[in-house]
Amino acid sequence: MMTAKVIVLGAGYGGLLAALRLARLTRHLGASVTLVEQAAVAPDRVRLHETLVRDVPSRRLVDVVRGSGVTFWQGRVDALDPDQRTVSIATAEGPRQFRYDRLVYALGSFTDRDVIPGIREHAHTLAPATSTQVRARIRELAATRGRVLVCGGGLSGIEVASEIAEAYPELQVTLATASQIGSGLSQRARAHIAAVLSRLHVSVREQTRIRALEVGTAQTATERLLFDLCLWTGPFAVPHIARQAGLAVDPGGRILVDDRLLSLSHPEVSVVGDAAALGGAVHRHVRPACASATAMGAYAANALAADLSGRGSPPFRLGYLSKNVSLGRREAVTDWVRPDDQPRERIWTGWPAVWWKNLVITAVGVWGQIQAERWWSGNYQLARWIETPDLGHNSGGHESLTGPDRV
Ligand SMILES: Cc1cc2nc3c(=O)[nH]c(=O)nc-3n(C[C@H](O)[C@H](O)[C@H](O)COP(=O)(O)OP(=O)(O)OC[C@H]3O[C@@H](n4cnc5c(N)ncnc54)[C@H](O)[C@@H]3O)c2cc1C
Repeated sequence: MMTAKVIVLGAGYGGLLAALRLARLTRHLGASVTLVEQAAVAPDRVRLHETLVRDVPSRRLVDVVRGSGVTFWQGRVDALDPDQRTVSIATAEGPRQFRYDRLVYALGSFTDRDVIPGIREHAHTLAPATSTQVRARIRELAATRGRVLVCGGGLSGIEVASEIAEAYPELQVTLATASQIGSGLSQRARAHIAAVLSRLHVSVREQTRIRALEVGTAQTATERLLFDLCLWTGPFAVPHIARQAGLAVDPGGRILVDDRLLSLSHPEVSVVGDAAALGGAVHRHVRPACASATAMGAYAANALAADLSGRGSPPFRLGYLSKNVSLGRREAVTDWVRPDDQPRERIWTGWPAVWWKNLVITAVGVWGQIQAERWWSGNYQLARWIETPDLGHNSGGHESLTGPDRV
């Protein structure tokens, strides 16, 4: 297929990397690569908690893709017709429709605002669009020693609570979660997080399931938690577009894929990142994370380029190295894991963990890995390097694809 039209939907960690690599690998084949994304700037989700208290540098996507061979369209994907192989998008200039030969679906996920009543009306979720407004409100509340309630004891909730408490020690910050803080992390990592949260005077409420949010109040089975500002960091959901298009999806709406990340129902669609539901024991450990999304984006581009050249490719495999949690700017924890994501009970804390976390963020973010991708194809090779042959035979303790952040 000498003039294949490839469209990549979504410029998160998976989609942007896939588009840049595809353009590089298929240039000699004459393929065209078009990237569609609703945002003008490259969203850096792993730094969203930082944006609640300070400016974080961002880059316009037109600048990121300049010179790469990728054509960028800013617009919202409204519908997909896999039978006609078309994508409908809403742009500032009006609706447009694109035809594709191959599609990379990377529309990711967002914080679900419908898991309990009242989130939409009375809480904020982490999203680039709301950061500035929330930051202003936090600054305002600091002047009156206001109450900030962070719901969700997953990694995002921990990062949000510690970031705010460190930047504004005068605030009364509470972190509430239905189970325990940092479940899925090693015992040592959890102990360190508890110590740092205590040092930052964050009031931690474990086994506190919030049933509904009302004006200034979070309702549990037995009590009401009062707040001036509520940040909801609960589980992720995925866009409905795949389900509406008739692609085979799991109950949560994630696209069912094979071990080459191809849609089970429509193999001309590659799926990467949080939108993909991988089956089978060998992939049971794969969790929604930037590390997974970038590795999948890189793999999908390699496999698609190989396919367009008439070559085969090995199945997708992924091994992890660490989980990294920032605890403000001066503390962090690195929880070293086995390739199947099980904790090794070996952690770094203090400046080495802060350094490692910053390195990882830079490496996966637009400033590092994605830019480096224009010249070098490191990420997926690294992912394969840390993979072990027996990966997948250990099936215990994996996280489900509903996301690490449970309230
Ligand atoms: C606050 C926070 C902190 C996190 N911290 C970490 C961390 O430290 N480490 C880690 O590994 N993971 C972290 N995660 C999870 C990680 O960000 C996700 O797993 C990762 O972003 C998934 O990448 P993705 O490419 O699949 O999708 P996303 O990064 O979600 O990108 C999807 C893209 O598609 C676009 N899009 C969606 N719908 C449409 C549409 N209809 N039309 C056009 N464009 C659309 C979105 O704007 C977005 O740019 C964090 C997540 C959050 C929210």
